[in-house]
Amino acid sequence: MTDAVTTATPARAEDGPGRILELIINGSARTRTGIAQITGLSRSTVGQRLDTLFDAQLIQESSDNVPSRGRPSRALELNPRAGVLLSVDVGEERTRMAVLDLNMAILGDRVARLALGDGPEILLDRITAVLRELIDHLGLDQTAVAGLGLGLPAPVDYEAGRVQGWSIMSGWEGYDIRRHLRRSWPVPILIDNDVNLLTLAEHRRYWPGQRHLFFVKAGTGIGSGMVIDGAINRGAQGAAGDIGHAHVAGFGDPQCRCGNAGCLESLAGGWALARDLREGHDARDVADRLRRGDSAAVTGLRQAGRIMGESIAYATSLLNPDVIVLGGLLATTGDDLLAGIRQVVYQRSLPLATRQLRIVSTRYKSRAGIAGAGYLVRDHVLSPAVLDACLAVGKSPFAGAGAGS
Ligand SMILES: [Zn+2]
Repeated sequence: MTDAVTTATPARAEDGPGRILELIINGSARTRTGIAQITGLSRSTVGQRLDTLFDAQLIQESSDNVPSRGRPSRALELNPRAGVLLSVDVGEERTRMAVLDLNMAILGDRVARLALGDGPEILLDRITAVLRELIDHLGLDQTAVAGLGLGLPAPVDYEAGRVQGWSIMSGWEGYDIRRHLRRSWPVPILIDNDVNLLTLAEHRRYWPGQRHLFFVKAGTGIGSGMVIDGAINRGAQGAAGDIGHAHVAGFGDPQCRCGNAGCLESLAGGWALARDLREGHDARDVADRLRRGDSAAVTGLRQAGRIMGESIAYATSLLNPDVIVLGGLLATTGDDLLAGIRQVVYQRSLPLATRQLRIVSTRYKSRAGIAGAGYLVRDHVLSPAVLDACLAVGKSPFAGAGAGS
Protein backbone atom coordinates (compact mmCIF):
# COMPACT_ATOMS: atom_id res chain seq x y z
CA MET A 1 0.00 0.00 0.00
CA THR A 2 1.27 3.48 -0.78
CA ASP A 3 1.14 6.32 1.72
CA ALA A 4 -1.50 8.06 -0.35
CA VAL A 5 -3.75 5.02 -0.07
CA THR A 6 -3.10 4.72 3.65
CA THR A 7 -4.14 8.29 4.37
CA ALA A 8 -7.23 7.86 2.23
CA THR A 9 -8.26 4.73 4.12
CA PRO A 10 -10.82 5.56 6.76
CA ALA A 11 -10.36 4.45 10.36
CA ARG A 12 -13.80 2.86 10.22
CA ALA A 13 -15.56 1.75 7.06
CA GLU A 14 -18.63 3.75 7.94
CA ASP A 15 -16.59 6.96 7.90
CA GLY A 16 -15.24 6.54 4.36
CA PRO A 17 -15.99 8.63 1.30
CA GLY A 18 -18.70 6.16 0.29
CA ARG A 19 -20.60 6.76 3.52
CA ILE A 20 -20.29 10.52 3.05
CA LEU A 21 -21.61 10.26 -0.51
CA GLU A 22 -24.52 8.23 0.85
CA LEU A 23 -25.37 11.03 3.32
CA ILE A 24 -25.27 13.56 0.48
CA ILE A 25 -27.43 11.44 -1.82
CA ASN A 26 -30.10 10.63 0.75
CA GLY A 27 -30.20 14.26 1.86
CA SER A 28 -29.12 13.60 5.47
CA ALA A 29 -26.28 16.11 5.18
CA ARG A 30 -25.40 18.41 2.32
CA THR A 31 -22.74 20.68 3.80
CA ARG A 32 -19.31 20.20 5.37
CA THR A 33 -20.72 21.26 8.72
CA GLY A 34 -23.67 18.90 8.46
CA ILE A 35 -21.45 15.96 7.52
CA ALA A 36 -19.10 16.67 10.42
CA GLN A 37 -22.07 16.82 12.81
CA ILE A 38 -23.62 13.54 11.65
CA THR A 39 -20.42 11.52 11.41
CA GLY A 40 -18.52 13.07 14.33
CA LEU A 41 -15.49 13.37 12.03
CA SER A 42 -13.21 16.40 12.24
CA ARG A 43 -13.63 19.09 9.63
CA SER A 44 -10.23 18.25 8.14
CA THR A 45 -11.13 14.57 7.76
CA VAL A 46 -14.44 15.52 6.17
CA GLY A 47 -12.45 17.79 3.84
CA GLN A 48 -10.15 14.89 2.83
CA ARG A 49 -13.09 12.58 2.11
CA LEU A 50 -14.82 15.25 0.05
CA ASP A 51 -11.60 15.91 -1.89
CA THR A 52 -11.56 12.21 -2.81
CA LEU A 53 -15.16 12.47 -4.02
CA PHE A 54 -14.45 15.68 -5.95
CA ASP A 55 -11.34 14.12 -7.56
CA ALA A 56 -13.45 11.19 -8.73
CA GLN A 57 -16.01 13.71 -10.06
CA LEU A 58 -18.69 12.04 -7.98
CA ILE A 59 -19.88 15.22 -6.29
CA GLN A 60 -20.33 18.84 -7.22
CA GLU A 61 -21.47 22.06 -5.57
CA SER A 62 -25.13 22.68 -6.25
CA SER A 63 -26.59 26.04 -7.09
CA ASP A 64 -28.46 26.17 -3.75
CA ASN A 65 -27.00 27.99 -0.81
CA VAL A 66 -27.53 26.46 2.59
CA PRO A 67 -27.83 28.98 5.40
CA SER A 68 -25.25 28.51 8.13
CA ARG A 69 -23.50 30.60 10.73
CA GLY A 70 -21.30 33.15 9.04
CA ARG A 71 -21.54 33.10 5.27
CA PRO A 72 -23.94 30.75 3.53
CA SER A 73 -22.29 27.66 2.10
CA ARG A 74 -22.93 25.86 -1.15
CA ALA A 75 -24.80 22.57 -0.81
CA LEU A 76 -23.09 19.45 -2.11
CA GLU A 77 -24.80 17.04 -4.47
CA LEU A 78 -24.14 13.91 -6.47
CA ASN A 79 -22.79 14.66 -9.95
CA PRO A 80 -25.46 12.86 -11.95
CA ARG A 81 -23.18 12.61 -15.00
CA ALA A 82 -20.29 10.96 -13.19
CA GLY A 83 -21.36 7.85 -15.06
CA VAL A 84 -24.39 6.32 -16.72
CA LEU A 85 -26.40 3.20 -15.95
CA LEU A 86 -27.84 0.77 -18.45
CA SER A 87 -31.26 -0.51 -17.60
CA VAL A 88 -33.08 -3.34 -19.36
CA ASP A 89 -36.64 -4.48 -18.71
CA VAL A 90 -37.31 -7.72 -20.55
CA GLY A 91 -41.02 -8.35 -20.99
CA GLU A 92 -43.04 -11.22 -22.34
CA GLU A 93 -43.71 -9.27 -25.52
CA ARG A 94 -41.61 -6.13 -25.41
CA THR A 95 -38.18 -5.30 -24.07
CA ARG A 96 -37.32 -1.76 -23.03
CA MET A 97 -33.71 -0.59 -22.83
CA ALA A 98 -32.59 2.72 -21.38
CA VAL A 99 -29.57 4.81 -20.45
CA LEU A 100 -29.99 6.60 -17.12
CA ASP A 101 -27.90 9.18 -15.31
CA LEU A 102 -27.04 8.65 -11.65
CA ASN A 103 -30.12 10.62 -10.58
CA MET A 104 -32.22 8.04 -12.45
CA ALA A 105 -33.22 10.46 -15.20
CA ILE A 106 -33.78 8.63 -18.49
CA LEU A 107 -31.31 10.03 -21.04
CA GLY A 108 -32.70 7.86 -23.80
CA ASP A 109 -34.64 4.65 -24.29
CA ARG A 110 -35.70 2.16 -26.91
CA VAL A 111 -38.39 -0.50 -27.12
CA ALA A 112 -37.99 -3.64 -29.20
CA ARG A 113 -40.13 -6.71 -29.79
CA LEU A 114 -37.75 -9.46 -28.75
CA ALA A 115 -39.03 -13.02 -28.55
CA LEU A 116 -38.00 -14.81 -25.38
CA GLY A 117 -38.26 -18.07 -27.34
CA ASP A 118 -35.21 -17.06 -29.43
CA GLY A 119 -33.13 -18.02 -26.40
CA PRO A 120 -30.56 -16.15 -24.35
CA GLU A 121 -27.70 -15.80 -26.85
CA ILE A 122 -29.71 -14.14 -29.61
CA LEU A 123 -31.75 -12.01 -27.26
CA LEU A 124 -28.83 -10.77 -25.13
CA ASP A 125 -26.83 -9.89 -28.27
CA ARG A 126 -29.78 -7.89 -29.61
CA ILE A 127 -30.03 -6.04 -26.29
CA THR A 128 -26.33 -5.22 -26.44
CA ALA A 129 -26.64 -3.96 -30.03
CA VAL A 130 -29.53 -1.66 -29.11
CA LEU A 131 -27.71 -0.33 -26.04
CA ARG A 132 -24.58 0.38 -28.10
CA GLU A 133 -26.63 2.25 -30.67
CA LEU A 134 -28.35 4.22 -27.91
CA ILE A 135 -25.04 5.17 -26.25
CA ASP A 136 -23.68 6.36 -29.62
CA HIS A 137 -26.86 8.27 -30.31
CA LEU A 138 -26.50 10.09 -26.97
CA GLY A 139 -22.91 11.04 -27.81
CA LEU A 140 -21.58 9.03 -24.87
CA ASP A 141 -18.59 6.76 -24.63
CA GLN A 142 -19.02 3.14 -23.48
CA THR A 143 -16.44 3.77 -20.76
CA ALA A 144 -18.99 6.03 -19.04
CA VAL A 145 -21.12 2.97 -18.23
CA ALA A 146 -21.02 2.34 -14.49
CA GLY A 147 -23.23 -0.74 -14.37
CA LEU A 148 -26.05 -2.69 -15.99
CA GLY A 149 -29.34 -3.75 -14.41
CA LEU A 150 -31.55 -6.39 -16.03
CA GLY A 151 -35.09 -7.44 -15.12
CA LEU A 152 -36.54 -10.75 -16.33
CA PRO A 153 -40.11 -12.12 -16.23
CA ALA A 154 -39.01 -15.28 -14.40
CA PRO A 155 -37.68 -16.45 -11.03
CA VAL A 156 -34.02 -15.43 -10.83
CA ASP A 157 -31.18 -16.71 -8.69
CA TYR A 158 -29.99 -13.23 -7.81
CA GLU A 159 -26.47 -14.15 -6.71
CA ALA A 160 -25.82 -16.38 -9.72
CA GLY A 161 -27.69 -14.17 -12.21
CA ARG A 162 -29.54 -17.11 -13.74
CA VAL A 163 -33.15 -17.98 -14.48
CA GLN A 164 -34.36 -20.94 -12.46
CA GLY A 165 -37.45 -23.09 -12.11
CA TRP A 166 -40.65 -23.00 -14.12
CA SER A 167 -41.34 -19.80 -16.03
CA ILE A 168 -42.39 -18.41 -19.38
CA MET A 169 -38.65 -18.19 -20.15
CA SER A 170 -38.20 -21.83 -21.06
CA GLY A 171 -34.76 -22.48 -22.52
CA TRP A 172 -33.13 -19.91 -20.23
CA GLU A 173 -32.83 -22.04 -17.08
CA GLY A 174 -29.31 -22.05 -15.73
CA TYR A 175 -27.84 -19.97 -18.57
CA ASP A 176 -24.99 -17.75 -17.34
CA ILE A 177 -26.48 -14.41 -18.40
CA ARG A 178 -23.91 -12.33 -16.56
CA ARG A 179 -20.97 -14.06 -18.22
CA HIS A 180 -22.50 -13.51 -21.63
CA LEU A 181 -23.15 -9.81 -21.04
CA ARG A 182 -19.78 -9.21 -19.42
CA ARG A 183 -18.03 -9.87 -22.74
CA SER A 184 -19.59 -6.62 -23.95
CA TRP A 185 -20.03 -4.77 -20.67
CA PRO A 186 -17.12 -5.16 -18.22
CA VAL A 187 -19.05 -3.50 -15.37
CA PRO A 188 -21.18 -4.70 -12.44
CA ILE A 189 -24.19 -6.56 -13.88
CA LEU A 190 -27.19 -7.14 -11.62
CA ILE A 191 -30.06 -9.37 -12.63
CA ASP A 192 -33.37 -9.80 -10.87
CA ASN A 193 -36.96 -10.85 -11.31
CA ASP A 194 -39.11 -8.11 -12.84
CA VAL A 195 -41.58 -7.96 -9.95
CA ASN A 196 -38.75 -7.45 -7.46
CA LEU A 197 -37.61 -4.53 -9.59
CA LEU A 198 -41.09 -2.99 -9.67
CA THR A 199 -41.15 -3.37 -5.89
CA LEU A 200 -37.76 -1.69 -5.56
CA ALA A 201 -38.78 1.16 -7.89
CA GLU A 202 -41.93 1.76 -5.85
CA HIS A 203 -40.05 1.78 -2.55
CA ARG A 204 -37.07 3.90 -3.59
CA ARG A 205 -39.08 6.53 -5.44
CA TYR A 206 -42.33 6.89 -3.53
CA TRP A 207 -42.00 5.21 -0.13
CA PRO A 208 -38.35 5.53 0.95
CA GLY A 209 -39.38 6.36 4.51
CA GLN A 210 -41.37 3.13 4.97
CA ARG A 211 -39.53 0.05 6.18
CA HIS A 212 -41.98 -2.62 4.98
CA LEU A 213 -43.71 -2.61 1.60
CA PHE A 214 -45.63 -5.34 -0.18
CA PHE A 215 -46.11 -4.99 -3.94
CA VAL A 216 -48.55 -6.96 -6.09
CA LYS A 217 -48.36 -6.98 -9.86
CA ALA A 218 -51.70 -7.80 -11.45
CA GLY A 219 -51.15 -8.36 -15.13
CA THR A 220 -51.57 -11.40 -17.32
CA GLY A 221 -50.02 -13.28 -14.40
CA ILE A 222 -49.86 -12.29 -10.74
CA GLY A 223 -46.62 -11.75 -8.86
CA SER A 224 -45.52 -10.00 -5.72
CA GLY A 225 -42.42 -8.60 -4.12
CA MET A 226 -41.56 -7.36 -0.67
CA VAL A 227 -39.31 -4.85 0.98
CA ILE A 228 -38.58 -5.94 4.53
CA ASP A 229 -36.67 -3.60 6.79
CA GLY A 230 -35.75 -1.42 3.83
CA ALA A 231 -34.38 -4.15 1.55
CA ILE A 232 -35.82 -6.47 -1.08
CA ASN A 233 -36.45 -9.94 0.36
CA ARG A 234 -35.77 -12.65 -2.20
CA GLY A 235 -36.08 -15.71 0.01
CA ALA A 236 -33.83 -18.78 -0.04
CA GLN A 237 -34.17 -19.58 -3.75
CA GLY A 238 -35.36 -16.27 -5.15
CA ALA A 239 -38.93 -17.53 -5.10
CA ALA A 240 -40.19 -15.33 -2.24
CA GLY A 241 -43.40 -13.54 -3.14
CA ASP A 242 -44.54 -16.00 -5.79
CA ILE A 243 -48.08 -15.35 -4.64
CA GLY A 244 -49.60 -16.11 -8.07
CA HIS A 245 -48.98 -19.83 -7.72
CA ALA A 246 -50.14 -20.23 -4.13
CA HIS A 247 -53.44 -22.11 -3.85
CA VAL A 248 -56.61 -20.23 -2.92
CA ALA A 249 -59.42 -22.37 -1.50
CA GLY A 250 -63.13 -21.90 -2.06
CA PHE A 251 -63.29 -20.70 -5.65
CA GLY A 252 -62.91 -23.96 -7.58
CA ASP A 253 -59.68 -25.43 -8.83
CA PRO A 254 -59.14 -24.47 -12.47
CA GLN A 255 -56.02 -25.70 -14.21
CA CYS A 256 -53.09 -23.29 -13.92
CA ARG A 257 -50.40 -22.75 -16.54
CA CYS A 258 -47.78 -23.92 -14.01
CA GLY A 259 -49.25 -27.44 -13.95
CA ASN A 260 -51.03 -27.15 -10.59
CA ALA A 261 -54.69 -26.30 -10.08
CA GLY A 262 -56.45 -23.55 -8.13
CA CYS A 263 -53.50 -21.14 -8.02
CA LEU A 264 -54.39 -17.48 -7.40
CA GLU A 265 -53.36 -16.75 -11.00
CA SER A 266 -55.74 -19.39 -12.41
CA LEU A 267 -58.62 -17.57 -10.65
CA ALA A 268 -57.72 -13.89 -10.82
CA GLY A 269 -54.85 -13.37 -13.26
CA GLY A 270 -55.40 -11.51 -16.53
CA TRP A 271 -55.26 -14.73 -18.53
CA ALA A 272 -57.89 -16.32 -16.26
CA LEU A 273 -60.20 -13.29 -16.63
CA ALA A 274 -59.77 -13.45 -20.40
CA ARG A 275 -60.65 -17.17 -20.26
CA ASP A 276 -63.80 -16.49 -18.21
CA LEU A 277 -64.85 -13.61 -20.47
CA ARG A 278 -64.02 -15.61 -23.62
CA GLU A 279 -62.10 -12.54 -24.77
CA GLY A 280 -58.55 -12.90 -26.08
CA HIS A 281 -55.90 -14.44 -23.88
CA ASP A 282 -54.16 -11.87 -21.69
CA ALA A 283 -54.51 -8.80 -19.46
CA ARG A 284 -54.41 -6.47 -22.46
CA ASP A 285 -57.56 -8.06 -23.90
CA VAL A 286 -59.32 -7.73 -20.53
CA ALA A 287 -58.19 -4.10 -20.17
CA ASP A 288 -59.55 -3.29 -23.64
CA ARG A 289 -62.93 -4.70 -22.69
CA LEU A 290 -62.91 -2.80 -19.38
CA ARG A 291 -62.19 0.42 -21.25
CA ARG A 292 -65.32 -0.17 -23.29
CA GLY A 293 -67.25 -0.24 -19.99
CA ASP A 294 -68.32 -3.87 -20.33
CA SER A 295 -70.28 -4.85 -17.22
CA ALA A 296 -69.25 -8.54 -17.24
CA ALA A 297 -65.60 -7.46 -17.31
CA VAL A 298 -66.15 -5.05 -14.37
CA THR A 299 -67.91 -7.79 -12.37
CA GLY A 300 -65.07 -10.19 -13.16
CA LEU A 301 -62.45 -7.67 -12.07
CA ARG A 302 -64.20 -6.96 -8.74
CA GLN A 303 -64.39 -10.67 -8.05
CA ALA A 304 -60.69 -11.00 -8.99
CA GLY A 305 -59.95 -8.24 -6.46
CA ARG A 306 -61.75 -10.15 -3.70
CA ILE A 307 -59.92 -13.37 -4.55
CA MET A 308 -56.58 -11.55 -4.60
CA GLY A 309 -57.63 -9.98 -1.30
CA GLU A 310 -57.71 -13.47 0.27
CA SER A 311 -54.05 -14.04 -0.60
CA ILE A 312 -53.00 -10.49 0.22
CA ALA A 313 -54.76 -10.65 3.61
CA TYR A 314 -52.67 -13.69 4.44
CA ALA A 315 -49.49 -11.88 3.39
CA THR A 316 -50.57 -8.88 5.48
CA SER A 317 -50.90 -11.01 8.61
CA LEU A 318 -47.51 -12.56 7.93
CA LEU A 319 -45.55 -9.41 7.01
CA ASN A 320 -47.38 -6.49 8.66
CA PRO A 321 -46.43 -4.06 5.86
CA ASP A 322 -46.69 -0.26 6.14
CA VAL A 323 -48.01 -0.06 2.60
CA ILE A 324 -49.36 -2.40 -0.08
CA VAL A 325 -48.93 -1.16 -3.64
CA LEU A 326 -50.90 -2.59 -6.54
CA GLY A 327 -49.30 -2.39 -9.97
CA GLY A 328 -49.54 -4.13 -13.34
CA LEU A 329 -51.87 -3.52 -16.27
CA LEU A 330 -55.07 -4.48 -14.40
CA ALA A 331 -54.27 -1.92 -11.68
CA THR A 332 -54.41 0.85 -14.29
CA THR A 333 -57.99 0.11 -15.34
CA GLY A 334 -59.77 1.99 -12.52
CA ASP A 335 -60.48 1.29 -8.86
CA ASP A 336 -62.53 -1.91 -9.09
CA LEU A 337 -59.63 -4.26 -8.44
CA LEU A 338 -58.26 -2.13 -5.60
CA ALA A 339 -61.73 -1.88 -4.02
CA GLY A 340 -62.12 -5.67 -3.95
CA ILE A 341 -58.68 -6.12 -2.42
CA ARG A 342 -59.22 -3.47 0.25
CA GLN A 343 -62.57 -4.94 1.24
CA VAL A 344 -61.18 -8.40 1.92
CA VAL A 345 -57.85 -7.34 3.43
CA TYR A 346 -59.49 -5.07 6.02
CA GLN A 347 -62.10 -7.76 6.76
CA ARG A 348 -59.69 -10.65 7.16
CA SER A 349 -56.64 -9.11 8.81
CA LEU A 350 -56.23 -8.34 12.50
CA PRO A 351 -56.85 -4.68 13.36
CA LEU A 352 -53.30 -4.27 14.63
CA ALA A 353 -51.90 -5.22 11.20
CA THR A 354 -54.18 -2.81 9.32
CA ARG A 355 -54.36 0.14 11.73
CA GLN A 356 -51.77 2.13 9.78
CA LEU A 357 -51.84 0.11 6.58
CA ARG A 358 -52.24 1.92 3.28
CA ILE A 359 -53.38 0.04 0.18
CA VAL A 360 -52.77 2.09 -2.96
CA SER A 361 -52.24 1.82 -6.71
CA THR A 362 -48.84 2.50 -8.19
CA ARG A 363 -48.10 6.09 -9.18
CA TYR A 364 -45.79 5.07 -12.02
CA LYS A 365 -47.41 5.73 -15.37
CA SER A 366 -44.74 3.83 -17.29
CA ARG A 367 -41.12 2.70 -17.17
CA ALA A 368 -41.31 1.39 -13.60
CA GLY A 369 -39.30 -1.68 -14.62
CA ILE A 370 -36.57 0.53 -16.08
CA ALA A 371 -36.50 2.57 -12.87
CA GLY A 372 -36.27 -0.61 -10.78
CA ALA A 373 -33.33 -2.05 -12.75
CA GLY A 374 -31.68 1.38 -12.50
CA TYR A 375 -32.12 1.58 -8.71
CA LEU A 376 -30.80 -1.97 -8.37
CA VAL A 377 -27.55 -1.19 -10.13
CA ARG A 378 -27.19 2.31 -8.66
CA ASP A 379 -27.65 0.99 -5.12
CA HIS A 380 -24.81 -1.42 -5.85
CA VAL A 381 -22.25 0.82 -7.57
CA LEU A 382 -22.77 3.71 -5.15
CA SER A 383 -22.93 1.55 -2.01
CA PRO A 384 -20.28 2.67 0.50
CA ALA A 385 -18.45 -0.68 0.48
CA VAL A 386 -18.20 -0.96 -3.32
CA LEU A 387 -17.31 2.70 -3.79
CA ASP A 388 -14.65 2.74 -1.04
CA ALA A 389 -13.06 -0.41 -2.47
CA CYS A 390 -12.73 1.33 -5.87
CA LEU A 391 -11.48 4.61 -4.42
CA ALA A 392 -8.98 2.87 -2.10
CA VAL A 393 -7.09 1.39 -5.04
CA GLY A 394 -6.89 4.87 -6.48
CA LYS A 395 -9.22 4.38 -9.39
CA SER A 396 -12.33 6.24 -10.23
CA PRO A 397 -15.35 3.98 -9.81
CA PHE A 398 -16.34 4.66 -13.38
CA ALA A 399 -13.60 4.73 -15.96
CA GLY A 400 -15.41 7.33 -17.97
CA ALA A 401 -16.24 9.68 -15.10
CA GLY A 402 -17.33 12.99 -16.48
CA ALA A 403 -17.81 11.69 -20.00
CA GLY A 404 -20.71 13.17 -21.82
CA SER A 405 -21.15 16.03 -19.37
ZN1 LIG B 1 -49.96 -21.94 -10.88
